[in-house]
Amino acid sequence: MEGCVFCNISRGEIKTDFVFKDEEIMAFNDINPSAPVHILVVPRKHLISVKDLSDQDKDLAGKMILKARDVAKERNLDGYKLVFNVGRLGGQIIDHLHLHLLSGKGARLP
Ligand code: 5GP
Ligand code: ZN
Repeated sequence: MEGCVFCNISRGEIKTDFVFKDEEIMAFNDINPSAPVHILVVPRKHLISVKDLSDQDKDLAGKMILKARDVAKERNLDGYKLVFNVGRLGGQIIDHLHLHLLSGKGARLP
């Protein structure tokens, strides 16, 4: 999608601090962290939000959550928050589906 920040990241047009990437999903550090650990798990497919998910996307949605779990495990995070902001009233600014993984002292909801 033209003009979408996360699609630009997926195409390599914006430099990003990647934690993981494969053909379907990416994980990278949030540019403006709300916690000592703040990672975004993002599908390469341009879906706007959880509202935009269809039944065909259920494996993708599951993969995002399991990737967040794996990243947390690799970093030995004891506890963490997983957050999907949905729509402007839900605090969503970037209209490309993403899952926030937040951990550490002082973690705020993004
Ligand atoms: P939202 O409020 O839409 O759920 O969260 C979007 C998140 O994307 C914010 O936490 C924001 O800091 C992050 N973000 C916005 N633009 C960029 C960018 O270009 N690179 C990275 N790594 N994160 C971004
Ligand atoms: Zn996009």
